Amino acid sequence: MKPMKIAILPGDGIGPEVMNEALKILRVLQDQDVSFQTTINILPWNSEYYLENGRMMPENGLAILSDYDAILFGAIGDERVPDPITIWELIMPIRKKFKQYVNLRPVKNLNGIQTPLFNQDQHIDFVIIRENAEGEYSNSGGRLYEGTQDELAVQNTIITRKGTEKIAKYAFEYARKTAGRKVTSATKSNAVIHSMKLWDEVVAGVAKEYPDIQLEKNYIDALSAYFVQRPDTFDVVVASNLFGDILSDLGSALVGGLGLSPSANINPEKEYPSMFEPVHGSAPNIAGTGKANPIAQIWSTALMVEHLGREDLATLIVNSIEDVLSEGEVLTPDLGGNGSTFQLGDAISNKLSERM
Ligand code: ATP
Ligand code: MG
Repeated sequence: MKPMKIAILPGDGIGPEVMNEALKILRVLQDQDVSFQTTINILPWNSEYYLENGRMMPENGLAILSDYDAILFGAIGDERVPDPITIWELIMPIRKKFKQYVNLRPVKNLNGIQTPLFNQDQHIDFVIIRENAEGEYSNSGGRLYEGTQDELAVQNTIITRKGTEKIAKYAFEYARKTAGRKVTSATKSNAVIHSMKLWDEVVAGVAKEYPDIQLEKNYIDALSAYFVQRPDTFDVVVASNLFGDILSDLGSALVGGLGLSPSANINPEKEYPSMFEPVHGSAPNIAGTGKANPIAQIWSTALMVEHLGREDLATLIVNSIEDVLSEGEVLTPDLGGNGSTFQLGDAISNKLSERM
């Protein structure tokens, strides 16, 4: 493995707290695997930085980041800075500039976690691959006759052949790489007859190149129900930006909630750094109390390590998380325990040390 450069953006609120625990994990890897050569730099671009400098990152921030192989992000958000600023001046520019058009979220019931809907025997283990660059979340549209009884708003969805082809290919390649048998495509082409029809056509076209993998097409409403009724039947779910967003939260709720949910914003071509972050936000309501669950951040770190080519180490990290959950001795309050962020992070990094 060639030496890697990792940029750490802890962010605000519980971001830096859970990031500390992720850093423990990276240190174990560095100390115990001589071939895991990495330089780790912490970049203090958060709301505090904005209040001091009037911007979320330096003017050459994106140029600085482009030197890295990966970005590990905590969480951003502070009541003193309007939400659009933290999102549009930090997260969005990174996703756009580095063409991170794949948003990947594992949905897996970890050993040791009781979820409201399922028992331990059910094997839920799939990924949601969400298109992250176009679709329903576009700036195209506007409002007419503002303030009158005739007021109307138009919001355009942009589905492109190229964009859909790329996300579909990623989904099928992912299925092949992970010995998945099936790709499930979320659609609504029976009612959204322009954009979703093109989506369907392109996904079906890509599927032809993968005769070893089954394509299942589900309407988003039915698919939401199947997530609850038969979550153990999915391998890879591919979805547009909006559908993927909704399914991701549903998926996260199925297997234990925000404190456990990791995500990856990926540039598959590896021309640019990809970014890894927990699904949760900065959770100001529990910041500073030691109650934050660091697992989402640690699992995001595992996704990063996998992306950097060390699937073996990523598996060890996830196994260590599951060991600690199964023992159940130092769980954070969201998991029903009274352990702290620090204790849970320590337990996982100790476990990882033992496993390496
Ligand atoms: P944002 O606008 O940044 O998404 P939010 O308040 O909508 O912020 P979160 O910050 O993710 O969303 O918090 C939602 C709820 O989940 C809060 O009650 C928070 O305390 C809880 N929560 C989020 N992350 C964690 C975590 N890692 N451990 C424990 N509880 C968490
Ligand atoms: Mg939120």
